[in-house]
Amino acid sequence: MSAPISSIVQLLSALLVSILIGIATNSIAWGMAALLCGFLVFRLFEDRALRVWSHKLLTKPSALPKYWRGTATRITKSVVRGRTRGHMLLDALKRVRATTDQLQDALVIIRQPNGEIEFINRAAKTLLGLHTEDEGQPLSNLVRSPKLDLLIQNGSDQENVEIKSPISDEQFLEFRLIPLEENRAIVVARDVTDLNRLLTMRQDFIANVSHELRTPLTVLLGYIETANSDQLDHETLQNLVSRLEQPAFRMRRLIDDLLTLTRLESSDLPDPSLLEEITGAEIINDIMLDVRSLSEAKHEFDIDLDEEIRLNVVPGEVHSVFINLLSNAVRYSPNGGRIRVRWHRNGTYARFEVEDEGMGIAPEHMSRITERFYRIDLNKGRVSGGTGLGLAIVKHTLRRYRSELKVTSELGQGSTFYFDFPAIEKSIPLE
Ligand code: ADP
Repeated sequence: MSAPISSIVQLLSALLVSILIGIATNSIAWGMAALLCGFLVFRLFEDRALRVWSHKLLTKPSALPKYWRGTATRITKSVVRGRTRGHMLLDALKRVRATTDQLQDALVIIRQPNGEIEFINRAAKTLLGLHTEDEGQPLSNLVRSPKLDLLIQNGSDQENVEIKSPISDEQFLEFRLIPLEENRAIVVARDVTDLNRLLTMRQDFIANVSHELRTPLTVLLGYIETANSDQLDHETLQNLVSRLEQPAFRMRRLIDDLLTLTRLESSDLPDPSLLEEITGAEIINDIMLDVRSLSEAKHEFDIDLDEEIRLNVVPGEVHSVFINLLSNAVRYSPNGGRIRVRWHRNGTYARFEVEDEGMGIAPEHMSRITERFYRIDLNKGRVSGGTGLGLAIVKHTLRRYRSELKVTSELGQGSTFYFDFPAIEKSIPLE
């Protein structure tokens, strides 16, 4: 029975009862009063049941009087629909938050024109030092920068601004603004510290290479200009031509070293097709011929080599490591002195060690001497004939063999350069 019909039936029944009461009391008024009271009491009970149910909108309305059941069922359905939609929105919001938290860039949604924060992702906390509690505050109060203020005020997505991180003086952030509808905008901040460092390195590198090439080139051009003069006799001309050799060789060495470095940096491991089994001592002995001639008998050499140790390497690569370290020992011991060279077993490794009694290295330079073109004394370095790339080549070569260059030194006393290199096990017999 539907709710209106059941109400009519109830009303008719009450009417019948009140007519009976009217007849029994012989008074229409009493009958009507009884009808009214009965109807009111009945309604109160029904309404109370509805009130009780309204506190638990999701329970089944079957316990309710029929009159309210249909309405209650519709209310329940609508509440369930609302709840489901709410859950879906909450899930979507959680997904958006989880996704934006994965971004490495800081993301801040702001309300314009004042820039109050509406939403921040995780990177905004680490890069900008913001907290969830900051939502509602103007971004410019928390990240103080006139450039950022201008960006927020102008609201243009055409420009980027770069400012120091509010957290660290050594970190640089690039801000961009993406306007949204309804006076809102996204502020994206990206960490550009490494990029800036790379750009600076590239600029320094180009400046260094140009500088290194310009010096011998200027000398060459000077000689060529003199050679062009008509008044030169044959002997002077010969003399000039022989002087062209040194700056030309210097330029070639620099270019060779640059190419070697580029090749070393292009891959982490040596090319397997170029690997050869060699005896370290043989290479060192070969190199010592050149090193002695470089020394011009100014130094005393003390050489102790294990003739057995063999390596599986690209011979040219280890050759350049040995020659760079040995020639440095000579070049940076200008007043002569003893140079000790040791090549011996150190467990499964072979240790190469070269010790000089030269000028030594002050502690503040230690961590930088393997950087490209880093020279402690620029002028002395150039005069001594180095390209400034030797130790960088050594470092990169050793890295390919999972080895590392170590240095101990005392200013004015001398230095020891050494490294451990993976050697072939002793048990393998020599050919
Ligand atoms: P360079 O071509 O200038 O020798 P390197 O990369 O071989 O370049 O060395 C970098 C710098 O490290 C040198 O300019 C020099 O100042 C310092 N250095 C290298 N070896 C020694 C050494 N044995 N004793 C003192 N200083 C050294």
